[in-house]
Amino acid sequence: MRQFQFNYINDTSFVRELRKLAQWCKSMVISNVFFHIYTESDDEALITSLCSHIEKELPDAKFMGCSTNGNILNGEFSNSQTAVTCTVCEYPDTKIEIKQFVLTPETEVEVTDEVVAYVRDNKWIKGVEMLVTLRGLSMTGFCDRLDSIRDGVEVFGGGAFIPNFGSTACVFSNDKGYMPRGAVFLFMGGEDLHVNTTYITGWKPLGREHLVSRANGVYLNELDGKPAFDTYFRYLHINNDEHFFENTLEFPFVYEHNGISILRAPIASLPDGTIEMTADMKENVLARIAYGDPWTILESVRKGAVGIRSFQPEVIHVFSCAARRTFWGKDEVSKETVPFQTLAPTSGFYTSGEFLRSHGHVNQHNVTLVISAMREGDCIGDYDDHFEIKQESITGTVSMINRLATFIEAATNELEEANAKLAQMAVTDALTGLFNRGEIQKQISNGVKIGNKVSLVMFDLDDFKSVNDTYGHKEGDNVIRGISKLMKDTVAQMSQNGRVGRWGGEEFMILLENEDADKAVDIAEKIRVDFSQTEFPACGKRTVSIGVAFVKENEKADAAVTRADNALYDAKSSGKNRVVIAE
Ligand code: GH3
Ligand code: MG
Ligand code: MG
Repeated sequence: MRQFQFNYINDTSFVRELRKLAQWCKSMVISNVFFHIYTESDDEALITSLCSHIEKELPDAKFMGCSTNGNILNGEFSNSQTAVTCTVCEYPDTKIEIKQFVLTPETEVEVTDEVVAYVRDNKWIKGVEMLVTLRGLSMTGFCDRLDSIRDGVEVFGGGAFIPNFGSTACVFSNDKGYMPRGAVFLFMGGEDLHVNTTYITGWKPLGREHLVSRANGVYLNELDGKPAFDTYFRYLHINNDEHFFENTLEFPFVYEHNGISILRAPIASLPDGTIEMTADMKENVLARIAYGDPWTILESVRKGAVGIRSFQPEVIHVFSCAARRTFWGKDEVSKETVPFQTLAPTSGFYTSGEFLRSHGHVNQHNVTLVISAMREGDCIGDYDDHFEIKQESITGTVSMINRLATFIEAATNELEEANAKLAQMAVTDALTGLFNRGEIQKQISNGVKIGNKVSLVMFDLDDFKSVNDTYGHKEGDNVIRGISKLMKDTVAQMSQNGRVGRWGGEEFMILLENEDADKAVDIAEKIRVDFSQTEFPACGKRTVSIGVAFVKENEKADAAVTRADNALYDAKSSGKNRVVIAE
């Protein structure tokens, strides 16, 4: 596999390049020729003319392209408006197909169904590259349906960019030509073709998690129950003004989706504090603010490049977010793509969204670098995974922002651990380690409220005052701890759905959810018998009385607790050391 890359300057030079390519192809044994055309122009006439030149000079070649926010050639930001790459496959078994569709809300399902079916029916396919115009901004449904693409097939690509204010994004190909709302799919495969993909962000989480408490499509309304914008103001002092987009660019949100980290950047903040995002974030996910810093990003690029290097690529395609171009500025943005050029010819464009399949799921990313690598034939020999990015390309050594972010991360982790400990303490009884009264009461109410089948088992030690009086408070505590451990172990052993709480001094409560009534009685009886046989150092053997109640339909939690208490009272008054079941 080989790749030729050049900028489009004018028609004459373009045709000259095409003729040279045609000549070269004629002199070689090749199987496929396909072009990628990336253009910052929205000029339909220009695009159509480029297409017709290729059709004329290389009639067997396939081609695809889209509008972009800038192009990457030879691993670097290309200063030309339009960039062209020509990929030539050499192995006879390698196959390439291009299909183009109109992509609108009406055709979307049909398009994804057809792509899924095409891959299913064509076993040779190993990778699918897509260039799409994004409808609105979120492509979640589109991506979710592409999850059905046959297992093991790599899916990747980029969203066409709207090149100028007031114009539209477009895609085009040899299949259907210029299309303002469309999707082009490049299917690649065959015995000898290998495809490998990865993604790189380099943005690192900062500070604590925030719950997405209200969101609607691309609108992120609330975090932790407060207007989403408040988070940016509170932690970063970013104002809700015309610089909001640039200011938040270094601080997008990161959250887990389909088992991987995804970035979402804010576009604008609305007067009510709702933030408009680059793509949607679901409600009830936990998101953190992330920060971008050159040193960390280049370190991630280095790691990504090492991974790709072991694949021994012959061609690398990059789909990089337009936000990364803005983050670095166009003079510096090449720093994160040029390392790939040392591995293989690297080309691509700045997108309005990046797509990549990971763990079977196709995801839309933002602020991300999606990399696809291709190779024909097997890997040759060993590779050296020592891979250095030239030192001068890294701004300073470890930057101050990196150090501070590490500091904040460590401090946040310490706080989170302390909080978790406090939260644990707030629901736990100190002497026994059981749930405290408040917590077990809350859990009973919750269980009853959501309509679970609930059994209550209430305990009171028999003649406990005499233990304290005769053997001292310390021995009393021993007995309380002893029965607590027995209850905990017995419940854990006999049910997955039981919880034990300390109800009062020497009174306890077991809550069982969605278990048969028999189970509650069996547990009660076993604890009663085992406890009566337990020998304490000073006071010897003791006994316990037990009341059991099953919460009835439409019964309030309090009423059921009272019935359990009454049953316990009956156990006491009828001789103690027994289990009584409430009527
Ligand atoms: P009954 O069989 O009727 O239950 O008789 P009883 O003596 O157990 O009576 P009651 O349940 O009213 O006794 C409660 C006693 O439990 C009173 C108190 O001294 C003791 N107690 C409560 N909490 C603790 C504790 O944390 N440690 C110790 N050692 N004793 C406690
Ligand atoms: Mg008592
Ligand atoms: Mg008692």
